[in-house]
Amino acid sequence: MREIFLGIDLGGTEVKAAALNPAGEVLWSGRASTGVPEGREAVLSRIEGLIRRAGRAMEPAPLAAVGIAAPAVIDMDTGTLEHLSNFTAEWDNSPLRADMERRTGLPIFVLNDVRAATVAEQIWGAGRYYQDFISVAIGTGIGGGLVLNGHLYGGSRGAAGEIGHVTMAPDGLPCGCGNIGCLETVASGPAIARAARAAIERGDADLSELAESCTPTPAQVTQAAQRGSESARVILAEAGRWIGLALGNLICVLNPRAVIVGGGVAAAGDLLLDPMRVEIERRTVVFPPARGGVVVVGSPLGGAAGAMGAAGWAMRQGGAP
Ligand SMILES: [Zn+2]
Repeated sequence: MREIFLGIDLGGTEVKAAALNPAGEVLWSGRASTGVPEGREAVLSRIEGLIRRAGRAMEPAPLAAVGIAAPAVIDMDTGTLEHLSNFTAEWDNSPLRADMERRTGLPIFVLNDVRAATVAEQIWGAGRYYQDFISVAIGTGIGGGLVLNGHLYGGSRGAAGEIGHVTMAPDGLPCGCGNIGCLETVASGPAIARAARAAIERGDADLSELAESCTPTPAQVTQAAQRGSESARVILAEAGRWIGLALGNLICVLNPRAVIVGGGVAAAGDLLLDPMRVEIERRTVVFPPARGGVVVVGSPLGGAAGAMGAAGWAMRQGGAP
């Protein structure tokens, strides 16, 4: 009997789960709202409920291990969350792995959510074709993961890849991390929404259709651009240019073969990716296209990447075939 691995993607609004066999086929998936304001114990109970539902759905095959991806800095040795973005303070320094092992009796492996998506790209997604790639997730924040020489690179404390917090504007806006002018402050989903709001307040006729929306979402900005709004196109292009600039710096240091772009904002597709490609090419003169260059591709896994990668991580740690 083949064993089943469950991946959980713990997000600020939703918990997603996917049960995979070692071939990467999604055999079951489920979701629940996170309910952060209800407190940590309630959220842990909800995760436990998803694990039990998956276990029942997969019977008689056993769940071999569970991977949990969280938007957190994680102590990889102990499975402790050091800091969890957009959750209450009671989550800081909490032993997620130990708590969930006690609740479920299953082996639990914990990983940062964007690193998990990177693992999914490496095993089943666009990263299958590359030994060296950067994955970047653009959503409410901007995260990244590095695969170097075929291995997920964690850095000294498992936190390598925080591209959202490289400084782009030394005198810019404050970032949630405490720094000023991080990439996240100029190019994330909220930055795109803020730029759209500012354009509307300037009386931009091109975006007037979004004016009733207090803060237009990146998806609305993308739709406006697709309908032909030049202002919306420029806002997405500007975000893409900033991300390309940050990636260009990283590419000069790491010389990857590919950049894989996921996260909710990546649904803008080439409206975002083409300006990124232009800026990367402009800033990586040392690696010209004639000598290989860098491929920039959208993630084929989309919103499932976090949960799939968490399962893939559990599979690797659990010694799957
Ligand atoms: Zn920051």
